[in-house]
Amino acid sequence: MVNTTVQVADSSERRVVLMIADGLRPDALALMPGLSAALRLGTWFEAHEAVFPSVTLANACSIVTGCLPARHGIDGNVLLVEENGERRRLRPGRHGARERLAAIRGGSALLRPTLSALTAPLGTPVVMSDSVPAGVTGASVGPIQLLDTNRHGFTFHPLGCFGPGGGALQNHRFLAGVDPARTSDLADAFARRVVVDPEVPFALLWLSEPDFASHRFPLGSPPWRAALAGADAVIATVAEAVAPAVERGDVLLLICSDHGMETVRDRHSLDAALRNAGFAPEIDAGAACLLPNGSSASIAVDALDERRRAAMTDALHCLPWVAKVLEPAEMIALGAAAPDSARIGLLCRKHPGDSGFGFPGVTDTVEDFPAPGSDYTNFGNHGGLGLYERRATLLAAGEGFMPAGRSATPTSVVDIAPTALAHLGLPGGSFDGKPLQGLADLA
Ligand SMILES: [Zn+2]
Repeated sequence: MVNTTVQVADSSERRVVLMIADGLRPDALALMPGLSAALRLGTWFEAHEAVFPSVTLANACSIVTGCLPARHGIDGNVLLVEENGERRRLRPGRHGARERLAAIRGGSALLRPTLSALTAPLGTPVVMSDSVPAGVTGASVGPIQLLDTNRHGFTFHPLGCFGPGGGALQNHRFLAGVDPARTSDLADAFARRVVVDPEVPFALLWLSEPDFASHRFPLGSPPWRAALAGADAVIATVAEAVAPAVERGDVLLLICSDHGMETVRDRHSLDAALRNAGFAPEIDAGAACLLPNGSSASIAVDALDERRRAAMTDALHCLPWVAKVLEPAEMIALGAAAPDSARIGLLCRKHPGDSGFGFPGVTDTVEDFPAPGSDYTNFGNHGGLGLYERRATLLAAGEGFMPAGRSATPTSVVDIAPTALAHLGLPGGSFDGKPLQGLADLA
């Protein structure tokens, strides 16, 4: 049954407000009074899931494009690209990756249009992000350069603010008195200025917590809870700001996450394991390209013949920490590899137990290559198909969603973009997801 208690809005007043809390597990809800209060506005999707691999960049791009990773082109934390005639590994979260990928791909880092591009005919979309928390320096800037990759709207971020077309902004009414490096400032501007602006058809706020804390503290530990509380306070502020417009039917409010989180027990070197199995020549020649994604990995084997591919599959099956090997056809079917590619995937083994603070789900992970990267042992990580890493959060509030409702229908991050466009009355385009308004069990 479709909820019909909301007043149908004039289409010109319709807007979409999307908040993404990076790495928010839905079972953290019990610790979130702000999100709990917002449940009265809409429907809580109990079986919402990330796409594979369950890493941030792949899922962030699936949220804003409505497409699986193989179609939008960001199929993991590390991409295999052909640049200047050479096969190279490229990290799409690194500073400058947007421009590099756009050059490689003939103009756009993403292969599919984003929600900002799709909603720009209705006004000026806004993307705000604290994806590099204040005081943190490093090469990774998270998904911010990809969320509105071709800059159809405004982008506000600690590293820079840009207007439509890409020009750097010094002053804008949304930014008055705002320090973009402070999450609380960004959230305040988002709640007080952006989500109430009729000229903004699509407003996205990306929160880097609780993901950032999850990689540094045990899930459920006091510092993790403090970070979660910060994200929850922002969610509460924004939900309160848009609640009247949601109840009028003008605004569709979507509060979600890109993936879940599991606790890391051990990590393993895929590079060392494959070298031990006799694949050093192929690795050194770039014919076998290792692409680690936390608790999963992808290996590009296009340049290997059938015999060597089979030998590699056998070698992976023999590793005690590998729970499952995905054949190239399975990787394509999952939307994690392009139809013309040959990728072997692997999923790390799981363990019983919890984080030590009551959050179940324990996994092994793949050490990054060639740099060892961060060690998340005893902390959170994700990337595979484990229940607690692929289970993500979604609350949808507005026309077509039952207030205080619950849905057990399986949904995916790729459903968010088509749901947003359906609210705005825009043509659907070519999505891998589906609009969620009026699902049969929304009653
Ligand atoms: Zn994430």
